[in-house]
Amino acid sequence: MAILPIIKFPNPILTRVSVPVTEFGPDLKEFAKDMLDTLIAAPGAGLAAPQVARNIRLIVIDDSEIDEPHYVRTLTLVNPEITAAEGKQVYKEGCLSVTDLEANVNRSERVEVSFLDLDGNPRTLSAEGRKAVILQHEIDHLDGILFIDHLSPLKREMYVKSLRKKKKDKDKEPQKS
Ligand SMILES: [Zn+2]
Repeated sequence: MAILPIIKFPNPILTRVSVPVTEFGPDLKEFAKDMLDTLIAAPGAGLAAPQVARNIRLIVIDDSEIDEPHYVRTLTLVNPEITAAEGKQVYKEGCLSVTDLEANVNRSERVEVSFLDLDGNPRTLSAEGRKAVILQHEIDHLDGILFIDHLSPLKREMYVKSLRKKKKDKDKEPQKS
C-alpha cells in the first residue's frame, strides 16, 4: 500500500493534457492500486493520474454512497472517453487538488463512457447524477481542466487572489527556530 502525494493548484502539471496509456503491465496495475489507496485515504470521490504528478490517462473513482460507509465501490478507468452526454445538472464540487473551495458547476446529467480496464480490454459504462459528475470531473483532469475552469472568470479570479493572500500571510508568519 502506498499513498502518493497529491499536487495542488496552481502546479502546472495539472494543466497539461495527459497521454494515453499504451502499456498494460504490472507497473500500471501497481500504480492504479496506489491511486486507489491514495483516493481512499484522502478521502475523495475520484482521482486522476495528473493529480499525483503523472500525465497519463488513468482515473480511479469511489462510488460508495455517503450513507453506506462500509461499502466501497471502486473503479479504475484507463483512457476514458465520454461518448455521449445528455441533460443538465448543477452539482457542488470540490477537488483534492484545489484547496478550500467548493462551487456549483454545470454538468451533464447522464454520460456514457468508453474506457479500457487494467488488462487493456475495452469496456463501457453509463452513469447519471453524482457518478456522472465524478466521471466528468476526473476526465476533465486528463485534459488539464479543473472544476474552477468552469466557473465565471470573476469567481475564478477571486479564488486565485484568495490563495495568493493566504500564501502571503503564511510567508509573513515568524519562522520557528
Ligand atoms: Zn479534481
